[in-house]
Amino acid sequence: MQLTPEIKAQIEEQKKQCVFCKVISKEMEGQIVFEDDKTIALLDIYPAVKGHTVYMLKEHYPLPSFIPAEDFIHKFGLIPQLAKAVKEGILTTGVNVFISLGGVAGQQSPHFLAHLLPRERDDKFYNFEFKKGKQIEEEKGKVLVQNFPLMMANFFQRSPAPWHQGPGNVPGFLTPIYEKAKVLYEDERVLCLLSSLPAVPGHLEIYSKEAERNIEELSPESSAHLFFTASLAATLIFEALGVQGTNILLKSGFSDDNPKGRLVINILPRKQNDALQNIIWQPQQPTYDVKEIAKRIKDYSWKVKYKKKELERKPGMISTKPIVFSERKEEKRIYSVDEEIRKAIERVK
Ligand SMILES: [Zn+2]
Repeated sequence: MQLTPEIKAQIEEQKKQCVFCKVISKEMEGQIVFEDDKTIALLDIYPAVKGHTVYMLKEHYPLPSFIPAEDFIHKFGLIPQLAKAVKEGILTTGVNVFISLGGVAGQQSPHFLAHLLPRERDDKFYNFEFKKGKQIEEEKGKVLVQNFPLMMANFFQRSPAPWHQGPGNVPGFLTPIYEKAKVLYEDERVLCLLSSLPAVPGHLEIYSKEAERNIEELSPESSAHLFFTASLAATLIFEALGVQGTNILLKSGFSDDNPKGRLVINILPRKQNDALQNIIWQPQQPTYDVKEIAKRIKDYSWKVKYKKKELERKPGMISTKPIVFSERKEEKRIYSVDEEIRKAIERVK
């Protein structure tokens, strides 16, 4: 991605202050549970649950829109294997992947990262239990329905996939959900719709068509595609709904807030003082031996490996061409990459 000198300078400034960059360069100590040439995972120093892990690229990127396609696919392609290792190490039934975009959504670090939270029934973690809120206004819903397929089509144009021909089929386990909700987008691997039980207006859900319950079942490419769809959906609601931030929350396997153990990504638009302000946990010291827990995860994570040759296509660049974004069908707005990055920088301020 072409960054202006001004943005490059801002990122260099961020890096100097960044705790994670210091752990990565081994200037500071951290409980590392997994590491390869591009990514690193460590135990969070203020865990929400036992085994709470943060996972990031070693290169400092403030937001996903900065990440080159190859690195995005590497990082998010590894999540199924890493989630499996964390679950096996902690012996739990479920896992969440939680991402904050923007300060209002709880992004505390300018080093973009994903939280992995091992989950099980009766674990006393209630932050991801949602109450039904308001539906999105009809006009705004239309903007989403019109634009998301366009954004995805643009993406496939830039980065064609041999498996992609069109909307694909709906597997039996998704049929009841499919029939009830407003579909925004679907292809052979993912289904994106407006939540029928929205926590906040504009709450989207993204399902994998390949796995009903567990993220561990997805191939690296399917996982990367699922998270890419999620990050594009987050960009869409950020732009189209004029919100201040977004949360991306993946649920997988059984926990109290996921009694059916479904695999689903929630895209949550965020505003100051909204109905989701309790989604972020309070910082607390670990109540367990962190060295012991790190060792238990490492006993399983050593076999986590990113194999490029497993990918079915070469990654194209995600952000080298402008995203076409239209408010109404007849009127198209084109965002340049620079504009996209400027907005992204604004978001983390
Ligand atoms: Zn950093």
